[in-house]
Amino acid sequence: MKNVRAVVFALVGFSCVAAVACQAEAPVAQDRPPLQLKYLGTAGWEISDGNVVVLVDPYISRWKLDGLGHPDDTRPNVTRTDIAESDTALIDATISRADFILVHHGHFDHLGDVPYIAKKTGAKVIGTETTITVLRAYGIPEEQLYAVGGGEDYAFDNFSVRVVPSIHSALNEKHYFDSRRYDRSTTLEAPLRIEQFIEGGSLTFLARFDHHQILTMGSMNFVERELEGIRPDVLLAGVNGSRLGLYDYDARVLKVTGYPGVVIPTHWDNFRLPYGYSQQDNIDRNITPFVQAVAAISPQTRVIPPTHLETIVLR
Ligand SMILES: [Zn+2]
Repeated sequence: MKNVRAVVFALVGFSCVAAVACQAEAPVAQDRPPLQLKYLGTAGWEISDGNVVVLVDPYISRWKLDGLGHPDDTRPNVTRTDIAESDTALIDATISRADFILVHHGHFDHLGDVPYIAKKTGAKVIGTETTITVLRAYGIPEEQLYAVGGGEDYAFDNFSVRVVPSIHSALNEKHYFDSRRYDRSTTLEAPLRIEQFIEGGSLTFLARFDHHQILTMGSMNFVERELEGIRPDVLLAGVNGSRLGLYDYDARVLKVTGYPGVVIPTHWDNFRLPYGYSQQDNIDRNITPFVQAVAAISPQTRVIPPTHLETIVLR
């Protein structure tokens, strides 16, 4: 809290040596820094409350994979057997600071750029043992790495995070299932091929910021009983096509999380297209029906559709 007030004072032009002595004068409620959420595309976010900068699944490179990109995109096509090469210039232009990186699972569209970003920023990374094993292979120092299994509730300075066990999207018409895991006995040589970014189990995070609790999703799926009693005021809801194969997804996820005041769709875009390309197809297919569904299920909930690299500001 002291740090929060220090920032507020700086913003309103107070000078304050002893934060405690100044509490009575401080217009904290109105003037505290807002929560800022910048959408990085895919399931990726940069979230800051003025104290900490937390990245969630920051995938910036948006490889033109398997020939499924846009015909106007002049970047080389890549396949899953190619080495995963991060677009470091674009990452450097997009990400300047991170204190924490939360990784939902190990697929390339969640973890693929984290080795470079973790090295560049020195951020602490929280993820499954598979995720952490990949980062070890890239030489990320142990003091930055936190392997978790789900169930942990960790407090750090100015930030805490509850790790919630989850499950992956029901891809491939529900035939997707991958039980592979990496651990200390796994030999991995960096740089990895894209196909070596395996799921390795899935997580969800309750990220507690100053005055806001955000439940982050990295897939279009969840374990309902694991979310019981969790009451985020912001839900980053997985909103892509595979959710339609799940029983009553929209209503169940809203109900079990207590009908959050703000819901922001995530992982809804075509992540093979570079930033700046139209996502209208996916907006029509994913976002529009979801907005309509939420309006019917929870009229008091505000759905905020995000735009690539734009920042949503919440007071
Ligand atoms: Zn995945």
